[in-house]
Amino acid sequence: MMPYGQGSPSGARFDMLVVGAGFAGLYMLHRARRDGLSVRVLEAAGGVGGTWYWNRYPGARCDVESLEYCYQFDEALQQEWQWSERFATQPEILRYANHVAERFALRRDIRFDTRVVAASYADATWTVRTDQGDEASAQFLVMATGCLSSANRPAIKGLETFAGPVYHTGEWPHAEPDFSGRRVGVIGTGSSAIQSIPIIAQRAKQLTVFQRTANYTVPAKNAPLDPEHVARIKSDYPAFRARNSLQINAFGSNMPRSSVPARELTAAERRAALEARWQYGGLFFLGAFGDLLLDKAANDEAAEFVRGKIRGIVRDPEVARLLSPQQVIGCKRLCVDTDYYATFNRPNVRLVDISASGIDEITPRGARVNGDAFELDALVFATGFDAMTGTLLKIDIRGREGRTLREAWRDGPRTYLGLCIAGFPNFFTITGPGSPSVLTNMIVSIEQHVDWIADCISSLRSNGCTSIEARPEAQEAWVEHVNAVADRTLYPQCNSWYVGANIPGKTRVFMPLLGFPPYVEKCDEVAARGYEGFETD
Ligand SMILES: Cc1cc2nc3c(=O)[nH]c(=O)nc-3n(C[C@H](O)[C@H](O)[C@H](O)COP(=O)(O)OP(=O)(O)OC[C@H]3O[C@@H](n4cnc5c(N)ncnc54)[C@H](O)[C@@H]3O)c2cc1C
Repeated sequence: MMPYGQGSPSGARFDMLVVGAGFAGLYMLHRARRDGLSVRVLEAAGGVGGTWYWNRYPGARCDVESLEYCYQFDEALQQEWQWSERFATQPEILRYANHVAERFALRRDIRFDTRVVAASYADATWTVRTDQGDEASAQFLVMATGCLSSANRPAIKGLETFAGPVYHTGEWPHAEPDFSGRRVGVIGTGSSAIQSIPIIAQRAKQLTVFQRTANYTVPAKNAPLDPEHVARIKSDYPAFRARNSLQINAFGSNMPRSSVPARELTAAERRAALEARWQYGGLFFLGAFGDLLLDKAANDEAAEFVRGKIRGIVRDPEVARLLSPQQVIGCKRLCVDTDYYATFNRPNVRLVDISASGIDEITPRGARVNGDAFELDALVFATGFDAMTGTLLKIDIRGREGRTLREAWRDGPRTYLGLCIAGFPNFFTITGPGSPSVLTNMIVSIEQHVDWIADCISSLRSNGCTSIEARPEAQEAWVEHVNAVADRTLYPQCNSWYVGANIPGKTRVFMPLLGFPPYVEKCDEVAARGYEGFETD
């Protein structure tokens, strides 16, 4: 049996246990250790980095700019790290996570290759059980398990009979598969597919893309970072960060969202605004009008603009039509690409529409759709994740009186501030449902949550308290608030993973909260009022 970190026996007790060693777990460990807590992190993977450890597929990169998609808690760290491109690649982000682990000597308190399978609360103690057959306990349990960390593998008839290798973008092998001379099938056309398809198309003999729903994607306009731009940002990095934290999504103060609604612009001005953002590249496109995600007419105009771009890029009109999304733009996560639509002009790429009835069957030699057979040597699932709740619900979590999280969340996730759950004392979720999480630059949201949790624990201790738990009525009011905010927007209108629609049987609830600045204000206010809405003991 492996020891819990250096020299600590199985069954050891800590002040805090953290599950997950992605960006959330790493910073939680650093911050709690600095505050004098004994901490252990348990991580299923063989290394740090979370998302960036698992998602090694070709083309994986961030779509929040590198200079923002990194920690800000340590000025020396953000000054010394050099990003090479506007949008960093997965290997570079993983190198950064390893650098952070090294720089702050984090590994000695992380136990790798250890999956937490159960966690239960009794006698003011959380006890976790691992797949290594042992246990550890702590006063506080922090779930840093990630919002996008449970790969979604749709059940397709006959999949187990497929003769070739099967991959999932979210669990990509460390040894890069060799697709040369191969006929590769990609299932899915979300963000990971849109990043990987252009590269797989260059490597494979033939690429067949199976598309259920066309998604909007805008060009990244990725490029090496200009040293002068970097120097400018770094000359006052904290002020740049502060400006970004005031943006609704906690990033992008260099190209803020317009405050002008579409209806106040002429047709020519609207087109110019969309074109300027298309040329600028990245998620900023959604900020072309102040009401792009609030008003259907404004949204329709942006959506039609992108469809026009698709028609301009894709030569075969029928393929262009199939690639043209019809839903509200932005209510499924907007994708950011390099040459995605142009890839469908390649002679070795074909698009198969599976919107009507999915894939009939996987056979040993390929896939069958509507009776047509497609021969394949390798299959890639780019089918995303059971987002936000999937990873937590896979663990048998039991709070007071043995109540399971699965019961508590039977009708969808319910939290107070996305941080705590009534009935689960001293239990915290970093970027949990009900917090801005996936609608933001997640590293900013992670840091805000870690600091809030650490401050909360310090405050408890200095007041001689040992436990904190969300009050049910505060939680109910929060859930209502999250829904009310979503209902003022166009977000709930699509069958997105934000509402759990990609997972059969999952309760339809809009899980994240829109609006980082008011959320931070609320969290600060709750703390300033002595943790209003919580029971402390
Ligand atoms: C392809 C991709 C691109 C992305 N790009 C961006 C971007 O540009 N900008 C952005 O803001 N966000 C992006 N994200 C979101 C990304 O997940 C977050 O930015 C961030 O990396 C999350 O960090 P985390 O530590 O919260 O979770 P994760 O990185 O998911 O880490 C969670 C860790 O918990 C571990 N774990 C889970 N369950 C258990 C268990 N039971 N026992 C032990 N360990 C467990 C996992 O192995 C994992 O290592 C992207 C996500 C993906 C998948």
